[in-house]
Amino acid sequence: MKASILCVGTELLFGQIVNTNAAWLSQQLQMAGVDVLYHHVVGDNEGRMRALLAETLAQSDIVVATGGLGPTQDDLTKEIIADVLGAELVLDEKALADIEGFFKRFGNEMTENNRKQAYLPAGCRIYYNEVGTAPGFCLEKDGKAVIALPGPPRELKHLYEKWVRPWLTEKTNASIYNKVLRFYGIGESTLETKLAPVIEGQTDPTVATYAKEGEVSVRVASKRATVEEAAVAVQETIDKIYQIAGKYLYSTEDQELHEVVASRLLACGGTLASAESCTGGMFAERILSVPGMSASYLAGLVTYSNEMKTELLGVPAALIEKHGAVSEEVASAMATGVKARTGADYAVAVTGVAGPDGGSEAKPVGSCWISLAQKGMVITLPFETRDRGRQWNRNIFVLAMLDLLNKALLRQL
Ligand code: ATP
Ligand code: MG
Repeated sequence: MKASILCVGTELLFGQIVNTNAAWLSQQLQMAGVDVLYHHVVGDNEGRMRALLAETLAQSDIVVATGGLGPTQDDLTKEIIADVLGAELVLDEKALADIEGFFKRFGNEMTENNRKQAYLPAGCRIYYNEVGTAPGFCLEKDGKAVIALPGPPRELKHLYEKWVRPWLTEKTNASIYNKVLRFYGIGESTLETKLAPVIEGQTDPTVATYAKEGEVSVRVASKRATVEEAAVAVQETIDKIYQIAGKYLYSTEDQELHEVVASRLLACGGTLASAESCTGGMFAERILSVPGMSASYLAGLVTYSNEMKTELLGVPAALIEKHGAVSEEVASAMATGVKARTGADYAVAVTGVAGPDGGSEAKPVGSCWISLAQKGMVITLPFETRDRGRQWNRNIFVLAMLDLLNKALLRQL
């Protein structure tokens, strides 16, 4: 089955918002066994939208349209779909009651133009919307289907998951199984080269690599007669990948490094503290984005000045004087200092040069020292990001801290 995605909104053409809906929908459709042929973007213009919809319908079995379902004058998507497919717009009482209820719940007065959203093409399947006011819908004609979803990503995802995914699963009758593996400590091209024997000549399962900041993901997907068969094929490929690059693989469940670390910490009941300089609390923020971390995380200190490293962490002033704030010795003293002061089982620390200023030949921008203190052991390592700007550097420093902590939790240090 072939689909095209049609995103409506002048702000997309102006570049004021990024078309995340198209990317998200493409991933979902691909996972459902639907081939995505085109992404189209059109402004809120009746003539162009009409022409593009007709063209897109001719190209594919399914058109997924997003945006322009709202109550305002420039929201035309529904009217044009109905018109192009030759359906009247009729009032749906349940949709109207939902919209009235939505306004009542938030204590707002419903305006007349909101009634417009309860008019839907005759014969369509209505996707009632609990998280917003605009319902979506699916209108079928001559073996083709147009699916219309609201623009706000939260509403789009909700309606897709509730209505579109089950419908597609039934329709495609394909048994797809896929897993996303995540790697740290290896670049995309190196990983791809290593995995060449698994990737080349593969039609099923397919293996595709994606680079993220400082990390690489690999998606392994299979389409077979049954999900069980597909799962077996995917697992066989994962086993091969593991043999080649297992030492860089940190998740087979598409989890982020901080999620993996957090669940390991919570599972073993270990407590954690951190001392950060150049990352400014980014490590703490990342790890605390995981719910339930209050059971493990004790404290984090952002010590930027030398004086505060001494006062709050107990790093000897003479040590900073002698080796500089960005040094192996200071990183170690920061980790042991925050461990001693908090009593945490694990303490991590970082001191480095995030840039753009402050670099030197010996300590270039993008270099840092990372330290981990645990019972009877302190490990301090240098790290280098190949400077791509301050934010990039800070993020890579945090990943390196997480990786070190992950290895400690896996007893790999
Ligand atoms: P509303 O009822 O909120 O008006 P709508 O269906 O009419 O919804 P639009 O008015 O086109 O949708 O877009 C509403 C908002 O949704 C946009 O301002 C934008 O924040 C977001 N949005 C729309 N299209 C996209 C897209 N393709 N990718 C990401 N976000 C989008
Ligand atoms: Mg709108």
